[in-house]
This record gives sequence, structure tokens and C-alpha cells, in this order.
Amino acid sequence: MAILERIYRNIDNRYWNPGVKAFPVKNRYTAGVAGQRFFEEIKENGKIYGTPCKNCGVTFVPARMYCERCFARLDKWVDVGTEGTVFSFTVVHKTKSNEPKESPSLIAAVKIADGLLIHRLGKCPVDDVWIGMPVKAAFKPKKERRGGIEDIKYFKPL
Ligand SMILES: [Zn+2]
Repeated sequence: MAILERIYRNIDNRYWNPGVKAFPVKNRYTAGVAGQRFFEEIKENGKIYGTPCKNCGVTFVPARMYCERCFARLDKWVDVGTEGTVFSFTVVHKTKSNEPKESPSLIAAVKIADGLLIHRLGKCPVDDVWIGMPVKAAFKPKKERRGGIEDIKYFKPL
């Protein structure tokens, strides 16, 4: 059953059997109209776009269709460049399966225009990162891009 299908009979409800290791998710995720264009620009052109709100003076990154402050429709898209600054970061010492990592890595909230992108920091020793550090997106080669945030390999110090 996909997420867009409606349940009309209670008997059609599903439940998760905790004895089963895999959760049976069969829905699809969509990034939405603005999200799709945002990721296509990264994939096809290696560019990061934002949408400014002329009422609020805020440029949203990732680009959005509507301003979350005043609900204005955001039709203008601007190339905000591929550089930002480290707004916040965390040092990762364990893998997803809670095993110790061979060497710690960095995840950062990178501020670009007035928005934040959460991503890996690369080419940066853990002890060298600082709040406000200028960074630049390192994109995967174009043929390896899939149209998602992973098309940016990591952000690296300038
Ligand atoms: Zn606004």
C-alpha cells in the first residue's frame, strides 16, 4: 500500500510485527516541486539555488516555493554559490550500527545565504573545524550524480 492510497476498511490496516527485521515501507518520497528543481540544479549544473523572499529579505536554502514567514510565493531563483560557513558541527565516533569508527568524521550544518545544509565535512581534520569556518561544496563527478544531496560529496575548508 502506497502512502497516497486511502484505507477504507480497518481490516486493511497493517501493523509492524516486531519479530520481523525489516519494516515493510512501500511508499515513495518526493522532494516536491522546489526540492526536485533544487536537486536537479545540483545534479546537472553543480549549482546551489535559493529562493529569496522580497517581503522578508530572507533567501531560503534549499530553495522553497513559499516563504515560511509570510507565506509569499517565491518565484525567483538565485544561484547562491557553492560556498558557505560552518554554523554548527558534530564529531561522529560511531557507525550507524554503533560500532566504533576507525577515525572520527565531521557532520556540519553549513550556512549558505540564510539556509542550512546538513552534510559531511571532508578534507578537514576533526581538531581543525571551527564555527564560522568558510567551506565549499565538493561535488561528485557529473556522471555519478543521482539528483540528491549526496551529489555533494562533502564540504571542504576553503
Ligand atoms: Zn517572506
